[in-house]
Amino acid sequence: MSKVRAAVLDGPGRFVVRDFERPGAGSGAVLEVEACGLCGTDLDVARGSVPLRGPTIPGHEILGTISSIDDTYAAGTGLRVGDRVVVPGELHCGACIGCLGDESCLASPGTHGFLPVELAPSLWGGYAEVMVLSDRTRPLAIDRSVPIARAALFNLLGAGYSWAVEAPVLEPGQTVVVLGPGQRGLACVLAATDAGARVVAVSGAGGRDVHRLDVASAFGAEHTVDVGERSIVECVLDVTGGLGVDVVVDTTPHATAPVHDALAMVRPGGTVVLAGLKGTPVDGFPTDTIALRRLTVRGVRAVSRHGFRRAIALIESGDERLDRLTTHRFGLDDVPAALDALAHDADAIAVAITP
Ligand SMILES: [Zn+2]
Repeated sequence: MSKVRAAVLDGPGRFVVRDFERPGAGSGAVLEVEACGLCGTDLDVARGSVPLRGPTIPGHEILGTISSIDDTYAAGTGLRVGDRVVVPGELHCGACIGCLGDESCLASPGTHGFLPVELAPSLWGGYAEVMVLSDRTRPLAIDRSVPIARAALFNLLGAGYSWAVEAPVLEPGQTVVVLGPGQRGLACVLAATDAGARVVAVSGAGGRDVHRLDVASAFGAEHTVDVGERSIVECVLDVTGGLGVDVVVDTTPHATAPVHDALAMVRPGGTVVLAGLKGTPVDGFPTDTIALRRLTVRGVRAVSRHGFRRAIALIESGDERLDRLTTHRFGLDDVPAALDALAHDADAIAVAITP
């Protein structure tokens, strides 16, 4: 039996590259991993702030090619050996209203990249040369000709479409503000403009966000605001003649002020999408304002099937702007450096592991 390599998270901040037996026939679907994208959740996992059941191969934004598949899995998915696919990490229960409607599962039965190596056949995460796909995974095909770096953006771009277009039912010609210029905020800018909307403004907070706000401008944001220098609410009310915008998407994590900002710059009858997790309740959440101004407040989590399909369509269209997002790639031996770049590099947006 030949061996394959994978980066195992052995404890907070501690990665060890280990050899595993290559999974054989009868293992369901086996994927040769081309790339695994990283997001803030990977940082939380590596730091130990997400509970795991022992040593784990992380990685849940996976791109690869099917090298072996058993008949049951093939019949259930329509996939064949040689298919190139993107693999959303979330598993599906198959029974909830989301699953039955070919949408995201509402039951959260588990996620690739969070299952322990002690659970056979161990290779459940994307920081690996090879992984085994759960029969509760629903991969989507992607064209073989797409460069790896662009294809690996499927998850963050999918979030852009799910959060900025699908959740607020965004119409062409509508106006949008995106709070936070991280990888998902920038994806929201791309998705909203692709859907024919105007991105009136994007906010950031100095430091690393200076570069990201430049990228937001290149993606079509009409105004960028460093909130340390200027009020995003004043800017948006100023450029909309006091009306506000149709949709505000808050992607900022751990900050509660942007929720108040969002509610203060959305037009009457407009929609605020809450995407960034705060880790705490929002003090003074103005329910009367929401009622009196007839606002819709929409929570979002992960990526819808529709979002994935639109992201793949954008990637396959050959849009070269996407290359502004792909800033760093690292091998399996350099997972800590990859996470460090994602957390600290001034120009880091999308970081991927390419085993
Ligand atoms: Zn389900």
